[in-house]
Amino acid sequence: MIASECAPVAKVGGLGDVVFGLSRELEIRGHSVEIILPKYAGMRYDHIWGLQVDYQDLWVPWYGGAIHCTVWFGFVHGRKCYFIEPHSQDRFFDRDAYYGYDDEALRFAFFTKAALEYMLKAGKRPEVIHTHDWQTGLAPVLLFELYKHHGLEHQRCCHTIHNFRHQGVAGENVLHATGLGRPEYYYARDRLGDEFNPSAINFMKGAIAYANFVTTVSPHHAWEARCTEQGYGLGHALHLHQQKFGGILNGLDYDMWNPEKDPYIAHPFGPERLDRKYGNKAALRDRLLLRKDYKPVVSYVGRLDTQKGVHLIRHALFYALRNGAQFALLGSSPERGINEEFWQLKCSLNENPDCHLEIGFDEELAHLIYAGSDMMVVPSIFEPCGLTQMIALRYGTVPIVRAVGGLADTVFDRDHSERPECERNGYVFDHANPPGLESAMHRAIGLWNSQPEDFRQLILNGMRYDYSWNHPGRHYLDVYEYIRHK
Ligand code: ADP
Repeated sequence: MIASECAPVAKVGGLGDVVFGLSRELEIRGHSVEIILPKYAGMRYDHIWGLQVDYQDLWVPWYGGAIHCTVWFGFVHGRKCYFIEPHSQDRFFDRDAYYGYDDEALRFAFFTKAALEYMLKAGKRPEVIHTHDWQTGLAPVLLFELYKHHGLEHQRCCHTIHNFRHQGVAGENVLHATGLGRPEYYYARDRLGDEFNPSAINFMKGAIAYANFVTTVSPHHAWEARCTEQGYGLGHALHLHQQKFGGILNGLDYDMWNPEKDPYIAHPFGPERLDRKYGNKAALRDRLLLRKDYKPVVSYVGRLDTQKGVHLIRHALFYALRNGAQFALLGSSPERGINEEFWQLKCSLNENPDCHLEIGFDEELAHLIYAGSDMMVVPSIFEPCGLTQMIALRYGTVPIVRAVGGLADTVFDRDHSERPECERNGYVFDHANPPGLESAMHRAIGLWNSQPEDFRQLILNGMRYDYSWNHPGRHYLDVYEYIRHK
């Protein structure tokens, strides 16, 4: 795996969970997996065991010269991880945050190049290289245009797209820096040429053109990306390469997300002892200073990003308060405008005993919110897979979601689904507007109040689903097996 995130050591969102969870599943199935990551200054070093230098002097060709790197090795909860540390004035990863800088394309082009260079020099020859999102989108391009001729000729590449909106659009300098050169060749539309900007290359497009197989993170989103505007200009490329493109639903790491033995919650519970969940509800209220009252707790956990429907999240909060529910929010945004909006909201609601907004990233609190809430809203504008609704289901929290991407593949409406009643597990709405959201929240809060036994049954239906890595792990192995023989 070559990736920019791996939970919990370097996690911003679902990408980190997937890299960790899939790697673990593959190892359980007897395969050997190694993960290559940047050595970010701000990683959670407390989650790395036995960190030591693995390769002292890795020189990575860059522009006309080379950058000196050290490669570190350590275990992250049992996974073998390699961390690339460049020593240059660019200080690519020696910064406060994981993402959000002006030289983003160069940072991750460098990382990708360094990862392949490391494999080459250290004699690592995996059968399959699995890369993720735009950050490592140049890997298949570099592999098949350069490294194939230097000793990585048998490696196959599977690329997974977790988010089509961020594609890695950059200028010619990346081609010169990485040694690809030949702008006239790479600017071709069937290679890396960006659809919208004729003077830019597009890392993700390159991955689609060059990888042996391309996946996205749910079957529904595979269709959306190819056939609707959700492909953000890449629909045509996906169409051209449709024989090697498909959607595999993400799994959830059932070890990390297990209400029966979650170290972050005080009252372990499961379908057989569901009542203990309410101990966590009390703990959540204590922690967030919410008043103890006969009310459901509705929550939101996730990035505060336009993709997530921030205006609807805000609407959900006020709707909950107006309709006799409490609301807990945990989220952060790299976008200053959105961040400020939620800070203001937090200040204005500070005295309200029925809601709490926590702005920031807090893994431990996230676990408590999943465990202690009654319902969770996920009103995304687009959602390639979405993990929060799956975690909610596992923790007996009823998801209220918009019918897009992986949300449509995992949540089935209690009142309107075509599925048998015992397979219905939440509430779903179609339109990304307040009436759409309200229609679902109204039904959810109504059931909680008037038919608690039915609400409990809905919770149990959700907890019985298997959204572990078991099925997706097998699907990815099928993909690897398929490309290995191509
Ligand atoms: P995305 O990848 O678009 O961010 P997903 O739903 O796929 O969304 O994954 C989000 C993951 O990140 C979940 O594990 C969620 O619990 C976690 N997460 C998101 N924001 C926060 C936060 N502020 N604090 C703690 N965990 C968070």
